[in-house]
Amino acid sequence: MKLPVYLDNNATTPCDPRVVEVMLPYFTEMFGNAASRSHSLGWAAEAAVDHAREQVAMLIGASPGEIIFTSGATESVNLALKGVYEMYAGKGNHIITTAIEHKAVLDTCKHLEKRGAQVTYLPVNNEGLPDLRELEAAITPQTILVAMMYANNEIGVLNPVPEIGAIAKKHNIIFMSDATQAAGKIPIDVIRDGIDLLALSAHKMYGPKGVGALYVRRKSPRVKLTAQMDGGGHEKGMRSGTLNVPGIAALGKACELCLQEMDADAKRLSVMRNRLEAALLQLEQSYVNGSTLHRLPHTTNLSFKYIEGETLLMGFNKTIALSSGSACTSASMEPSYVLKALGLGDDLAHASLRFGLGRFTTDEQIDFAIRTVTDTVNKLRAESPLWELFKDGTEMDTLSWAHQQNATGKQ
Ligand SMILES: *Cc1c(COP(=O)(O)O)cnc(C)c1O
Repeated sequence: MKLPVYLDNNATTPCDPRVVEVMLPYFTEMFGNAASRSHSLGWAAEAAVDHAREQVAMLIGASPGEIIFTSGATESVNLALKGVYEMYAGKGNHIITTAIEHKAVLDTCKHLEKRGAQVTYLPVNNEGLPDLRELEAAITPQTILVAMMYANNEIGVLNPVPEIGAIAKKHNIIFMSDATQAAGKIPIDVIRDGIDLLALSAHKMYGPKGVGALYVRRKSPRVKLTAQMDGGGHEKGMRSGTLNVPGIAALGKACELCLQEMDADAKRLSVMRNRLEAALLQLEQSYVNGSTLHRLPHTTNLSFKYIEGETLLMGFNKTIALSSGSACTSASMEPSYVLKALGLGDDLAHASLRFGLGRFTTDEQIDFAIRTVTDTVNKLRAESPLWELFKDGTEMDTLSWAHQQNATGKQ
């Protein structure tokens, strides 16, 4: 078995070789600019883009004319939020979102706040779910947009999207959903779900990095956006710039494969995920973070109390590639804001690992992960003064995280 075992598919997925095969000719023989109308190379590129637009639309129940190609979900989200904010300025300036959105949404909202937007960040309960009565109560005559993700990237929890869509529709408010984690993994239908704007990204669904799409509803209602990129008027003027033809062809193929294989992948991966989860929950003081009922089939987020996620990752000695909720990137050592929003204390938030299975995950890899995580947790706890205190019956909640960090020697 090749190491590391990759269980970080919520961060990015490998490209499916069938996707790579489709994109390759557009670098060499068919390198035309999709906007070149005067020769066959341009026509071939345009045909590839048109085909991909159909494939993307098909995946989410949209029509091809409603798909705008972008450089990824971050750009799609920026275009959606800023584009709506500017276009509907005459109607109002209030946006409703949640505390556990991806940074692409949260940071764009922060930016809009500096430009005069009023943003409501709805809390979530301990399962990671919003209260829809709170959503409805937050709506004012100034509300122009509800931005709520389809599935959370850290815990995999699914929002009640059709219900959110119905509330938005009832109040005549545009509904944007960041579906980057859900698209291609579970069935999405923008009509059924009442979604007006939807962001997705190729590299989370076995396509390449740097390409994505924004769905923009054209009927009931017709959603309008101000462009955030000015230039040659590509993508109906909503996103100028020469199209990334190889990437777009790849995104199209990735969508087609997901549509074909979604059901089988979801079944297979949920069995593996459940097996992994059940085995790791055998460990004392281990917990699942977020709803297990409303969740993506391939994700589980677990906390192993009294062990820091990053320490655990180091304990795997590079044999498993995955993420922890313990941010080492920030100087503040703040743990995952998503887990904190679920009400987890710093200790449990720091002690978390996110397992993201994918199309290429094997049973053998899951066996390896179960063994490695179990052995590492047991080993680290055996060496841990904290664990010893816990086993001796000391009331751990009286110790602050600062003490715990000192006790584990964490800087
Ligand atoms: C990965 C991710 C993004 C960002 O997508 P990029 O294509 O990398 O810009 C946005 N939202 C969610 C939920 C994600 O998981």
